[in-house]
Amino acid sequence: MYNLKSLDADEFINNEEVMDTLKFAQENKNNMELINSIIAKAKQEKGLSHKEAAVLLACDDKTIVDEIFQLAKKIKEEYYGSRIVLFAPLYLSNYCINGCIYCPYHLKNKHIPRKKMTQEDIKNEVIALQDMGHKRLAIEAGEDPVNNPIEYILESIKTIYSIKHKNGAIRRVNVNIAATTVENYKKLHEAGIGTYILFQETYNKQSYEKLHPTGPKHDYKYHTEAMDRAMQAGIDDVGLGVLFGLHGYDYEFTALLMHAEHLEAVYGTGPHTISVPRIRRADDIDPASFENGLDDEIFKKIVALIRIAVPYTGMIISTRENKDIRKELLELGISQISGGSKTSVGGYYKPEKENENSSQFEVNDNRTLDEVVNWLMESGYLPSFCTACYGSGRTGERFMEFCKKQQIHNFCHPNAIVTLKEYLLDYASEQTLKTGEDFIKKELNKIKDEKMKNTVLSALEKTENGVRSLKF
Ligand code: SF4
Repeated sequence: MYNLKSLDADEFINNEEVMDTLKFAQENKNNMELINSIIAKAKQEKGLSHKEAAVLLACDDKTIVDEIFQLAKKIKEEYYGSRIVLFAPLYLSNYCINGCIYCPYHLKNKHIPRKKMTQEDIKNEVIALQDMGHKRLAIEAGEDPVNNPIEYILESIKTIYSIKHKNGAIRRVNVNIAATTVENYKKLHEAGIGTYILFQETYNKQSYEKLHPTGPKHDYKYHTEAMDRAMQAGIDDVGLGVLFGLHGYDYEFTALLMHAEHLEAVYGTGPHTISVPRIRRADDIDPASFENGLDDEIFKKIVALIRIAVPYTGMIISTRENKDIRKELLELGISQISGGSKTSVGGYYKPEKENENSSQFEVNDNRTLDEVVNWLMESGYLPSFCTACYGSGRTGERFMEFCKKQQIHNFCHPNAIVTLKEYLLDYASEQTLKTGEDFIKKELNKIKDEKMKNTVLSALEKTENGVRSLKF
């Protein structure tokens, strides 16, 4: 039975509730009275329930779809402004004992090169990432208790935080590793991680079990309840996501929102981020063999509706997507993107040789970080390398309150300007430096509060004079 507050995955992601919701959505997809009342609620910008959002997803009336897109753009602008947070993935190891059908790191893939970075390798990779300008990483590793035990992950986090090269520093390490125990989540929390990210892959239990035929990840409940254990261990920023293409998109969308509702109801804090990856080509993996691939139009609608349903949750898009679709999604709700990414184990310090490819998936945006930064500014977005909330303890419930009160403009915007300035001074190409100096002037004009404007001007001056890591 559906129970939002239950700690049992079969109850908070209850299959019957998802199916009833989808049935209700199909029955009401032309019920304009209901749809208009949901749109009216959405315009209050406080979010929607999974049931309301599912009705809007099912509705294909062109006027309503346009209205959904317009509203998503408005909410994005009001909550997040023009700022886009940048990060890079860092794959530590591709050893994995699971059998995930859609991932080239699965145990039965005997021809992909298996790699695991030593602490010395990690140091070199982090220096290369710092030299690009990155301040925020998402570390990734396959599940393998022998090759990638929690001690290895903890040691790697320590190494990453310890490296201070020139003006560089990694100030936030987000962690994307397999579902684990409360004890291990406590250790990750103590190691000072940012967000704990774990993609559900698919919320449909039957599909999940088929797609994960072997290995510890086969256990649907253990995987789905991972965020509960992470939160019980004190990690208050967690990142959800599904791999779109594994099961029907309407099922995934509804269950994803149910998961967010569950976390908020039990822990007082919804997910810090939601990622929206789509299945991609990789060694051993042909995306065409998955029947549920979704086209760009539906994908955009999903992003817009997540933005409307959970306005306070950050949304992430990776380099799985190409430049053009990334641009459209930025408008509709994405607040974080990766840039200059490598999806192989290592590869930032020394590019992999052709016959050594250890990538998890094919990258569709191969631009350098500098090109992405320049492109963002030319498209009217403010690239941000800020990690101030994390540094000031504004996480979990405190961050949600901050976001719900639309405080991002007052704090994140000035922080983004100052961290962009750091990037321009330390890492930018000549062209990006030029675009950036003009762009910062325009962004400064958006600060209405004179006192804050003067504070930012003074911080920019100090940054020019060599001071780093200033934050509000
Ligand atoms: S998705 Fe993760 S758990 Fe599954 S095979 Fe790939 S690395 Fe291993």
